[in-house]
Amino acid sequence: MTSPAAATRLDEIRERVEAATPGPWLRGWWMAQAESMCDCSTKGPLLGKRPQKQYPGAGPFHVHATDFFEDEHQISGPAPECEPVAGNYGYEEGGIIAGSDAAFIAAAREDIPFLLAEVERLRGALKECQDGRYYEGLPK
Ligand SMILES: [Zn+2]
Repeated sequence: MTSPAAATRLDEIRERVEAATPGPWLRGWWMAQAESMCDCSTKGPLLGKRPQKQYPGAGPFHVHATDFFEDEHQISGPAPECEPVAGNYGYEEGGIIAGSDAAFIAAAREDIPFLLAEVERLRGALKECQDGRYYEGLPK
C-alpha cells in the first residue's frame, strides 16, 4: 500500500506536471541578437524578446525561431549570447516560459528517483500477488 507520505509526494509531483507548459519539450540553446542589430526580415517568426544586462543600451535581444539550436547542432566556440532554454526568460511563446516549468525541472532531480523507487516497490508488490502472496505477513 502506498504510504501517506508517498501519496502526498505523488500529489505534489502531479501538481508540478499539470502546472508546467505542455510538451514535448526540446533540449537546446537560444542564440539571441540585440534588437538594434537584428535583421528580422531574414529570420523566422519572432518568438520573444529577452531582457539583457550585459550590453546596456543595446535594447532587448530578439529570439527568432531560427535562433534555436538543439545540442547536436550547437557551435563549440564562445557565444556569449547563448542561454540554456531551461529557465524563465519571459518569452511570449516557445521554449520554456513559465516559472512553473523551472519548478518542474528543478524538482525532477528528486522526483524521478522517487518515482523509479515507487515503480520498483509496486513491481515487487505485483510479483508477490502473482506468486500468490497477496498479504504481507503470509508465509512464503
Ligand atoms: Zn529580430
